Amino acid sequence: MDQPDRRKTRAVKVGSLMIGGTAPVSIQSMTNTRPHDYEATLAQIKELAEAGAEMVRVAVPDKEAVPVFEKLVKNCPLPLIADIHFDPELAALALDNGAAKIRINPGNIGGTEKLKALALKAKSCHAAIRIGVNAGSLERRLLEKYSGASSEAMVDSAAGYLEIFEKAGFKNLVVSLKASDVYTTIKANRLFAKDHDYPLHLGVTEAGPPSTGLLKGAIGIGALLADGIGDTVRVSLTASPLEEINAARKILQALGIRKFTPDLISCPTCGRCEVDLVPLVNQVEKILENYKAPLKVAVMGCAVNGPGEAKEADIGISAGKKKGILFKHGKVVRTVEQDKLLEALKGELNGYR
Ligand code: SF4
Repeated sequence: MDQPDRRKTRAVKVGSLMIGGTAPVSIQSMTNTRPHDYEATLAQIKELAEAGAEMVRVAVPDKEAVPVFEKLVKNCPLPLIADIHFDPELAALALDNGAAKIRINPGNIGGTEKLKALALKAKSCHAAIRIGVNAGSLERRLLEKYSGASSEAMVDSAAGYLEIFEKAGFKNLVVSLKASDVYTTIKANRLFAKDHDYPLHLGVTEAGPPSTGLLKGAIGIGALLADGIGDTVRVSLTASPLEEINAARKILQALGIRKFTPDLISCPTCGRCEVDLVPLVNQVEKILENYKAPLKVAVMGCAVNGPGEAKEADIGISAGKKKGILFKHGKVVRTVEQDKLLEALKGELNGYR
């Protein structure tokens, strides 16, 4: 499978991980428990880690949340990112208390001098900063200059903040350029990538519920990853953050950038299909979650065309009214009673554990 060449970016240290450089595109999400509730937030971070998150962002909205954040840093299995708005003092406190990275919107943190002070603090704490540019909160002067929240305005905003941090001697920076509009997001990131080597955190913001948000995320993030752009990913969904992790993994796997489970190939069904294929495919999808081998597994709706249509699959089953078939690389291995087809597939898969 062809894979996109990745854009060369500077490596940015985030706790025990790197973003950019030669590091794989990492997956992150954000907790949605109350940030003052240590137990609930720790439990959710652990669930996210289990699901495949490699770093997690936690909102630190006030000083009361700082001791909780500190305790989470000490006890959680992943690098933690503090999400800070408006308050540079809070950002400094999060850094002092172990944030591997802070995510700020530099436009609401209090001006150039505050940003410089924050750069020095992050440097002394060996932490990273994400400059989070959001189309919804651009500086007025840029909105006037570009007649609105365009991709160009977003890139200009990021460039201005980068200059401030660089002048303060700080480059452990990740940048995000997010809009709720998919194409504005894509264009802003493409423009930025032409002139800068900072790693990019990709996401389409406020993408909505899974029914639309998954598509917006997959198109926006996927288009950029296919260009080789992007170093860490957050799929923003109005849903459990676990769904965000699952979606991020699937986007990366669909492009062949990372592999987590075998690929599932299944036919769209047609008038030749003699069984109810949907439940069978759903069962196979569930089973494959437990395998890591880089396989292609096919589930096809008829024995006549299935093996040929899915000949790129390493292993496959084709359903039939009474008997189905098990095949490998398009060649029939044996016929199997329809109700034993799933067991037969499992048996073959066990050889790849
Ligand atoms: S495999 Fe068979 S049932 Fe599925 S789409 Fe092809 S011809 Fe139709």
